[in-house]
Amino acid sequence: MTGKLFGTTGVRKVYGTEFDIEMALRLGKALGTYLKEGTVLMARDARTTGLMIESALAAGLMSTGVNVVRAGMVPTPTLAFGTKFHGLTAGVMITASHNPPEYTGVKFWQGDSMGFSPEREREIEAIYNSGEFKTAPWDSLGTESQIDTLVEDHISEILSRCDADTIRSREFRVVVDPGNGAASVLTPYLLRRLGCDVISLNSQPDGTFPGRPSEPDESTLGDLVNTVRATGADLGVAHDGDSDRVVFVTGKGEIIRGDRTIALLAREMLRLQSSGDDRDGTIVTTVDSSRVLDEAVANAGGRTIRTPVGDIQVAIKVRETNALLGGEACGVFIFPEFHLAPEPFLAVCRVLETMARSGESFDSLISTIPVYPLRKTKLSCPNEHKAAVMKRLTEMVPSEMEGVSDVITVDGVGVVLSDGWVLIRPSGTEPVIRITCEASTDKAVESIVAAAARLVERAIRETVG
Ligand code: MG
Repeated sequence: MTGKLFGTTGVRKVYGTEFDIEMALRLGKALGTYLKEGTVLMARDARTTGLMIESALAAGLMSTGVNVVRAGMVPTPTLAFGTKFHGLTAGVMITASHNPPEYTGVKFWQGDSMGFSPEREREIEAIYNSGEFKTAPWDSLGTESQIDTLVEDHISEILSRCDADTIRSREFRVVVDPGNGAASVLTPYLLRRLGCDVISLNSQPDGTFPGRPSEPDESTLGDLVNTVRATGADLGVAHDGDSDRVVFVTGKGEIIRGDRTIALLAREMLRLQSSGDDRDGTIVTTVDSSRVLDEAVANAGGRTIRTPVGDIQVAIKVRETNALLGGEACGVFIFPEFHLAPEPFLAVCRVLETMARSGESFDSLISTIPVYPLRKTKLSCPNEHKAAVMKRLTEMVPSEMEGVSDVITVDGVGVVLSDGWVLIRPSGTEPVIRITCEASTDKAVESIVAAAARLVERAIRETVG
């Protein structure tokens, strides 16, 4: 089992063939050697491999003299929050996010709740590969303890940051689908504390994900949509396996793209921003979000900044620009006044608050944020050729697409056209090049995505041969 350990964010591998307990033990030693001292908070999502991988990592950490505090099975944001809340050195989450059940993985968090940057991950990988680990003698090994209150700590802090009484006064009916993931231990209970009539689907944590695939999207949320409609609920809420993402469903059963929800919450935050707040109304999002978000934010007096894809990239830019809010279209929301990790649970509260304050349904609120046609496609490209193909595309796309008014090089290559935009970037996890395109009409989006796909095909043909 060799090869690069860290991917786009943390380690994410198939258990047994790509990652095992020996590697987890070694990774624990590498992290401990990197940290030198201190106390690490550890938790896991609901996967069948979680406890075992966590235990191997804990053993590696303790062998270097670093202490561990184990929080059990909690959502990723709860681990990140807890690391900051309890003033610990770092956080380690055993999770493979929304990947299929045979995957396992590890994600690292700093004491300030920011995920480890790719640079820090590279330093740990270098120690891992060198095999030169700190070893503590028998009388100064790291200690192990447990914390059982992390979910309660998190819920209390969330409730103190939202207008709970206004939400309670409306007695909303909410259907929650954590997809048998880690949010099973948090979201239903948070909503009950907000006076909601809670209907739960797939809410027993189960690492085989019996209810639905872990990624919350149009193809996996049919049961949630049907239950929202059948029960006359006000809102549907779905999470991925480790619960750092949330996707909302309206009372009519429409699944809402994350960038539209970010636009709605950003508009509300800009409207409510107090005059003493020194932040300039910046909203941070990734290059693949809809232009609808820029329009909504600009109309409300704010501005948007784009980053490469990935919640760490958003968090870094949120901190750098002292932003109000950060988010990704896949369902990531970052509220920097709370912490710098994705915070889906406060996002649920903010949506309910907006509904409660306005007296309007989520359907009616979200209908004020338009939808532009969006298409995504991907073309196979061997990993070893991706860099050369992307280099070729960086030259071809701006010169060969029609009507280019701006070139975007934040992540991959993108161009703004007279009636839309297209973004071409290599996948960080699969041997594919991804194309994302948005335009004002269905006809325009089809024609732009086809033109871009032809260019990618040609670049692959000319590079791979
Ligand atoms: Mg996730």
